[in-house]
Amino acid sequence: MKAAKKYQFWFCTGSQDLYGDECLAHVAEHSQIIVNALNQCGILPYEVVWKPTLITNELIRKTFNEANSDENCAGVITWMHTFSPAKSWILGLQEYRKPLLHLHTQFNREIPYDTIDMDFMNENQSAHGDREYGHIVTRMNIERKVIMGFWEDEAVQKRIADWMTTAVGIMESSHIRVCRIADNMRNVAVTEGDKVEAQIKFGWEVDAYPVNEIAEYVKDVSQGDIDALVEEYYSRYQILTEGRDPEEFRRHVAVQAGIEIGFERFLEEKNYQAIVTHFGDLGSLKQLPGLAIQRLMEKGYGFGGEGDWKTAAMVRLMKLMTAGKKDAKGTSFMEDYTYNLVPGKEGVLEAHMLEVCPSIADGPISIKCQPLSMGDREDPARLVFTSKEGHGIATSLIDLGTRFRLIINDVDCKKVEKPMPKLPVATNFWVPQPNLQVGAEAWIYAGGAHHTAFSYDLTAEQMCDWAAAMGIEAVVIDKDTNIRNFRNELRWNSMYYR
Ligand code: MN
Repeated sequence: MKAAKKYQFWFCTGSQDLYGDECLAHVAEHSQIIVNALNQCGILPYEVVWKPTLITNELIRKTFNEANSDENCAGVITWMHTFSPAKSWILGLQEYRKPLLHLHTQFNREIPYDTIDMDFMNENQSAHGDREYGHIVTRMNIERKVIMGFWEDEAVQKRIADWMTTAVGIMESSHIRVCRIADNMRNVAVTEGDKVEAQIKFGWEVDAYPVNEIAEYVKDVSQGDIDALVEEYYSRYQILTEGRDPEEFRRHVAVQAGIEIGFERFLEEKNYQAIVTHFGDLGSLKQLPGLAIQRLMEKGYGFGGEGDWKTAAMVRLMKLMTAGKKDAKGTSFMEDYTYNLVPGKEGVLEAHMLEVCPSIADGPISIKCQPLSMGDREDPARLVFTSKEGHGIATSLIDLGTRFRLIINDVDCKKVEKPMPKLPVATNFWVPQPNLQVGAEAWIYAGGAHHTAFSYDLTAEQMCDWAAAMGIEAVVIDKDTNIRNFRNELRWNSMYYR
């Protein structure tokens, strides 16, 4: 699986030549100190690159165009140390096409009460200059992130880090290619969508192949390769034969090993990073890909069940955004299945027929082999586990006919009270914020799907910023949601996003 690039972010400080060379020398020195501190803080996932102070139309325009064409540059961080007349920024901003962060900070933390004079004021006037600059970005209706605070503060650095992750999601979205080996499940509405519009909005390429074309790759996998992977499975996972003949069980597992290897070769060769399947359209595949898809998701591939290419692309996007994140807890395709409605213990049991990514697992992972209650194939082998506790987000991208909406719900993942020994699938259990009742009502009013792209490692704010950059509506269901305001928000949004 191809990892995301080693991205960098440019740090551009704004000023003007009105203040004299000595002042400009200080501006450059200060911004270099800030860049060095950001690079050394250990919080930012990507490098910050210092650029010479921007003081003229020509230099601003040239710098933004260089940022556009530099493949490693995933965004520009701007900060006005002094006052920089914002008309100088118009042409550069007009031509700039990548993520933009306006870091509203100041070199000094405290007002030097005893020594402050007009020279100091003129040299340190971000409060003044950043407003002039912010005005023109707003007037030009350019999507950007504004982060205010002192550059040495961990909370500010953490927010810059989160924005960098979003920026990489924005940059990488247009490299996502989804392989469809099955169409959308017959009669199902919410997993449908406009693939042309998705390419226009998000840059996603969504292509179809006959399922037997990928099944040929599975057939061509050598027995030696299959045996080696089955060995790896048996050394890594608990084997729960549950009374099945061990040899027969192993043969079922081997089918999934062949699918994992064959699918990965096909996707690598044809440059796809996400895939959809459908239990009703398996061609010559002997089993619904279960364990195989779970392992591919763990390697970073996006996945959607029953032909759901929108969720497959979202899972890939969210895996890209969280790739390499320190202490990541995982990202997966997920489905709302069944509720617990006992007062005080409310929540949603999340699962899928088979395909839940083991990156979200907590504790041991087992292989089970059980009949699938749908379809007409062999009993598929699958990984079974429960998931981590803690905060996560569930997202659903829906097509409203004329436009897309991203629905994001803050959820709190918990352990279920008791083991579920007869349930042969991986699960998660979460309580939607602000609570199950309001969370589920808001989700349904918004038109959210049963399939979600779920992550422990991203925030609603990050996904909202991504959606804004894509020019689509995002609605958040969180601790502050109440139904009356939420329904009004949907109504107002329907006027704005028409
Ligand atoms: Mn499903």
